[in-house]
Amino acid sequence: MMAQGQCAYRRVVLKISGEGLSGSEGFGIGPEALQHVAGEVRDVHVLGLQIAIVVGGGNILRGGTFSRTCHIAEATAHHMGMLATVINALALQEAMEHLGIQARVLSAVAVHSVCEPFIRRRCIRHLEKGRVAVLAGGTGRPFVTTDTAAALAAAEINAEAVFKATQVDGVYTADPKKDPTARFCSELTYDQVINGRLAVMDLSAVDMCQRNGTRIVVFNLHKAGNMKRIVQGEKIGTVIGR
Ligand code: UDP
Repeated sequence: MMAQGQCAYRRVVLKISGEGLSGSEGFGIGPEALQHVAGEVRDVHVLGLQIAIVVGGGNILRGGTFSRTCHIAEATAHHMGMLATVINALALQEAMEHLGIQARVLSAVAVHSVCEPFIRRRCIRHLEKGRVAVLAGGTGRPFVTTDTAAALAAAEINAEAVFKATQVDGVYTADPKKDPTARFCSELTYDQVINGRLAVMDLSAVDMCQRNGTRIVVFNLHKAGNMKRIVQGEKIGTVIGR
């Protein structure tokens, strides 16, 4: 493992949506996407970065949408969404270990036979021992999303930043596909994101990061090497802070 001096960060939470793991149809788990994510994580892990991954489940099921279309009680559908994140987390754990990096899934919902429960001190211990922690089950409660889980996890384990992996380069003033005047923002304050209702992540997650002073870095996961460059201090994507 390389010296920590080469890292601009000591400990971060990486938020990966289910879409980031999906195949070409945006559904399920794509082997190439899985390998890509694991490789990108390995490349920052070898720099000495402590990394906890909060994984979403939208590639399998989103509670709100599912309950509306299937007449399933919304709370139940959200529980199903949380279980979907466990499926993704198990895949990520194996993909990391295939690359020679120890990983542990810790879940906020109880699934004792397949992974550990999320226990703050245990999670920190894994990170200190050089393991990647894969945090599944979101917050463990329905009606919220894994963005909120990532913001909470960062506060709980004293991470300096949430790295929000997306399919685009960062935050724009409007949707660049629909609005030709849309500008790319390399830096934003939390208030600019909240007041402008910029589509970055759940506003409750942004609010939580603001209250805890957690920096948010929004970046394109598909560009190989992006995360490594961020960790090495380069200005990539959009940085949201004070
Ligand atoms: N979910 C939940 N509580 C949480 C996190 C997630 O109920 O704390 C459910 C919710 O139904 C959500 C689904 O799990 O739609 C998948 O999570 P999310 O939508 O955040 O996944 P992503 O969009 O990041 O893939």
